[in-house]
Amino acid sequence: MRRSDPDTFGPLAVDFMFRSSCPDPMRGGVVRSLAFPVESLPPPLCGLLGEFRLLVNRSIRIALRKDMRSRSRLAKAAYHTLSTEHDIYKQYIPSAFEVALAVLKAHRRRLRRGRRTSVPFVKRPLLKAENQSYRFDRGTGRLRIPIRGTEGVQLILPLSDWHRRFLADPSWGLGSLTVTTDRIIVVVRKIAPEPYEPTAAIALDTNEASVDGVAVGDGEAGLVSLPFPEVRVVQATHFRRRRRLARKKAHDRRVMRCLLAREGRRERNRIRQRLHRVSKPLVAAAEERRAAIVLEDLTLHGAGGRSRRMNRRLSSWPRGELHRQIEYKAALAGVPVIKVNPAWTSKTCPACGARRRDRVGKDFVCLVCDWEMDRQHNAALNILKTALASNEALARAVRFQPGALRHDVVSPLYDLPAREGAREEPSGVESQQTGTISSPHV
Ligand SMILES: [Zn+2]
Repeated sequence: MRRSDPDTFGPLAVDFMFRSSCPDPMRGGVVRSLAFPVESLPPPLCGLLGEFRLLVNRSIRIALRKDMRSRSRLAKAAYHTLSTEHDIYKQYIPSAFEVALAVLKAHRRRLRRGRRTSVPFVKRPLLKAENQSYRFDRGTGRLRIPIRGTEGVQLILPLSDWHRRFLADPSWGLGSLTVTTDRIIVVVRKIAPEPYEPTAAIALDTNEASVDGVAVGDGEAGLVSLPFPEVRVVQATHFRRRRRLARKKAHDRRVMRCLLAREGRRERNRIRQRLHRVSKPLVAAAEERRAAIVLEDLTLHGAGGRSRRMNRRLSSWPRGELHRQIEYKAALAGVPVIKVNPAWTSKTCPACGARRRDRVGKDFVCLVCDWEMDRQHNAALNILKTALASNEALARAVRFQPGALRHDVVSPLYDLPAREGAREEPSGVESQQTGTISSPHV
């Protein structure tokens, strides 16, 4: 399937020094990663990965010593030395600078937050190449990676139907290429359409087994719920499996680690697939209504430190993954997404604005007025109110009175569509619930 042979490449097309100062037209675009697992790489490519890792680590040390944060400054200080000392395709050197600066940025962020951190270095061999450095045939999957001079390797990447969907669509351009010892990642990117001016809004509170919220627009408002109860079932199943594995393989840590990692990958894939069944129809429903989607910003935490609720949210992978899916699908469809600070959303009365400082149970009950609503929808009303307060255009388009929703019955935002293309799971993982009828009190 794969072979490596010497290959000839054209002249260097771009002078990176000039390129780095040009605005990137792809910014504000959407990127997807097409991943291809590989069992083994041809030896010259392995050598290149090791060399690239060295380059990155040397660049990190140089940039750290002189406190450099821009690629052009790092290039001026280090390009000449590194290019004479490392015999590789020259365009990889600025890519190594980019990786080094990204690693350093994360390192500085950790320092700023007061976390202990040692001088960073890249442990695993890797290669990152910009799109002008490699050649990829989108029809056949033939990938040519230069090593040095006229030497290069050639691989055939096995294209699945999913890969072909992106590669056959010329509006997706090729981005960077990343090679590690066990996978090759080709990034594709697309310029997102301008988001439309919303005339409606769907505000959602993201919970463990559902997103719950309110849809407003066109003079009507309603409480909605999008359940995904299977995610919890998948998580519970895999939790049990992992515990059993850990017990059985306790005598061999290496095997255990490997098997646990595989379990983790399977679990994530299963959950991802279920979340797609929420994010896809949600974005379609928003597009149909010309609505903005309003979500909590999971990277913010409210005033007064992190609450127990926020801690749990930040550590929860499926929430972030669901938001990621909603955001990129919305960007591709031109659906505006507004993110608001989730501080106090579960403890504020949307009718009178009073706050409760104690723990809120299943239902939010206001101590000042007589407002009462289940906690999750109550949070969503506050999320919507926050968005309207900070977004004038949306506030002009959407009129919203929480009182009108008081006795509203919760309805599904859409009927879940047929599971086109979704792979069936082995029995025992699937929950019995279909998820079309929602009740926030379950
Ligand atoms: Zn109140």
